[in-house]
Amino acid sequence: MLMTPGPTAVPRRVREAMSEAMPNPDVEEAFAERYEDVTRKLATVYGTDDDLVVLGGEGILGLEAAVASIVEPGDRVLCLSNGLYGDGFADFVESYGGEATLVGSEYADPLDVERVEEALDEADADGSEFEAATMVHCETPTGTLNEIGDVLELLQDRGVLTIIDAVSSLGGAPVPTAHVDVCLGASQKCFSAPPGLSTVSVSDAVWDAVEARDPETLYTNLLPWRDVSDGFPYTHLSANVAALDAALDLLLEEGLDAAYARHEAAAERCRERGRALGLVLYPDRERSSPTVTAFHVPGRATELQRRLDEDHDVVVATGLGELADDILRVGHMGFNADVERVERTMDALGAVLDAA
Ligand SMILES: *Cc1c(COP(=O)(O)O)cnc(C)c1O
Repeated sequence: MLMTPGPTAVPRRVREAMSEAMPNPDVEEAFAERYEDVTRKLATVYGTDDDLVVLGGEGILGLEAAVASIVEPGDRVLCLSNGLYGDGFADFVESYGGEATLVGSEYADPLDVERVEEALDEADADGSEFEAATMVHCETPTGTLNEIGDVLELLQDRGVLTIIDAVSSLGGAPVPTAHVDVCLGASQKCFSAPPGLSTVSVSDAVWDAVEARDPETLYTNLLPWRDVSDGFPYTHLSANVAALDAALDLLLEEGLDAAYARHEAAAERCRERGRALGLVLYPDRERSSPTVTAFHVPGRATELQRRLDEDHDVVVATGLGELADDILRVGHMGFNADVERVERTMDALGAVLDAA
């Protein structure tokens, strides 16, 4: 039983969609129509009027494409971070020649929103404005759901383009997309389709900025996706798009509010069961994500993960980076946001802890 925070288990209807006969994406109108449908459904899930783009590549492609398309050498970018993915944005910015100002917090702490205002004031005072700002909604490696609504509004009011990674929350928790210029998602998290696609919303302000700079990259350039009526920049991943289409149908048939409530219920049960086993949440109840629960198990995560897999056939994740062996993560996103699957996972974890 696969209970990692992405990729998730993939439901049968989504797997079956991948075994249909496939149109040629470059030749047949049927594929272009399906792509249009998928972008329309995604806009509903995102809750946005902005354009949606689906790129052929794992979620990281979307993150890199956003930076590669927007950031010119010398551009200042404010990277707000309390985790690995937040820090990673700063690395992308630097690798495309931008100047990243990292406003970082400890991984167990909230985003440092006050320092954002200071950084904006300083930039205004010396005329070195920020082109863009980046942040992560759900920091999957620590199971943290960040409050980002107010800081997004502040940034947009001050003329800064906002880029958010909502890869592990879209479809599982409401994402505050009202003041977002680029919102990034991926097929293998709460959509429960296989890995392979990045989903990207793009505001008019971003299209204008990207058009003005006309990026030289190909695979990471968003511009050719603005209008695909004359064809796609490369042969699209037709089986993956078919799967995402089926996955979005499942989500929209259920209804977004029902899906969010299902994620909350699964998360709450996971936390309760963890508490009963004497486990400590990382970071805390207030900020733990409805899509993934992280337990603080210093020095034991790898061994617990191995025992769960070998003895109980339950696959969960450890932490990442420095916290790799200190955090055990149960994903309850998409298809796995199911109280019964959480119960089975926590039964197994209880047995492993008892035997230890
Ligand atoms: C999963 C995920 C991504 C996509 O990349 P991986 O290759 O799975 O690391 C990006 N951002 C976040 C927050 C994610 O959870």
